[in-house]
Amino acid sequence: MTNPPEGSDPLAALGPARLPSPLQEIDDERFTARGVRLLLKRDDLVHPRVIGNKWRKLTPHLRAALVEGTGTVVTVGGAYSNHLRALAAAGRPLGLRTVGIVRGDELAGRPLNPSLARCAADGMRLHFVSRAEYRTRHDAAFARAVRERFGPARLVPEGGSDPLAVSSCAELGRELAAAHPRPDVVALPCGTAGTLAGVAAGLAPDQRVLGVPVVRDPTLGDAVRRFQEAAFGGPRGRWELATGFEHGGYGRTPPALLAFAADFADRHGVPVEHCYVAKLLYALAELTRRGSVAPGTVLAAVVTGRPEDPRAPDLDNSTPASGI
Ligand SMILES: *Cc1c(COP(=O)(O)O)cnc(C)c1O
Repeated sequence: MTNPPEGSDPLAALGPARLPSPLQEIDDERFTARGVRLLLKRDDLVHPRVIGNKWRKLTPHLRAALVEGTGTVVTVGGAYSNHLRALAAAGRPLGLRTVGIVRGDELAGRPLNPSLARCAADGMRLHFVSRAEYRTRHDAAFARAVRERFGPARLVPEGGSDPLAVSSCAELGRELAAAHPRPDVVALPCGTAGTLAGVAAGLAPDQRVLGVPVVRDPTLGDAVRRFQEAAFGGPRGRWELATGFEHGGYGRTPPALLAFAADFADRHGVPVEHCYVAKLLYALAELTRRGSVAPGTVLAAVVTGRPEDPRAPDLDNSTPASGI
């Protein structure tokens, strides 16, 4: 996607997006000593507030919401959801009302954590539901209840993952198919695995995806097949999942992982987000150490997000990102 002049793009109010995102080679002896070239696909630099794969997944929904004209976008997520934050950041400059349905009604009476506080500061209306109610989020009755409460609205699924978002992530794969140097293996962290499903479809036949799940979920492979069936009508591309790097599950960040992330950030000047990106990079270092990555491999790690910056600027008066 290029950035058309103001006025022609319905998302122009978000400011420019840096696409294709930069591809950066990293000199790290844990990889080079094993004959592996490590590249970072810097999706964390695509946009200052609608970050990384959330830009890829949310922008088609935002365009659709603007066309539909209901003026409201509702989505669901956990208390630390990057997806909620990205939607909240995009809503106000686009003139869209945003509602975040948050898992855990025990949070309702308490002070907001920094992530939810940021959502609220961006104008998102937060609505807390019990875990039992949250589990029904894919049901038609849930959608009906949402529309009764909040009026006509576009409903975006958890993590933004649906056929529209998955198709949009194929563009990330196409960028990597056209990249120099050109990766043999594209590695990325998986939550819902919607991003993986799209990226695999966009790569060239001789490239493959290595997904690193951040949560122990034996159904994730099925989710990929379902996403691809819904978005493309059948399986696309070559992909596999490397399990065993969940570090205790979603949002769990044991000291060894945090130490690895801090060291990587320090060595390479790249901010390392903890829930996904740290687990990805840790897995790649470990798989390379074990000899599971063949010498001569060009390995691209997708930096799908960035650590939360509590001082993140308001989009309304932010300046475009510059430099790498
Ligand atoms: C949401 C998110 C993911 C997970 O993407 P899925 O498409 O749900 O697998 C990965 N990395 C970061 C930084 C995220 O915020």
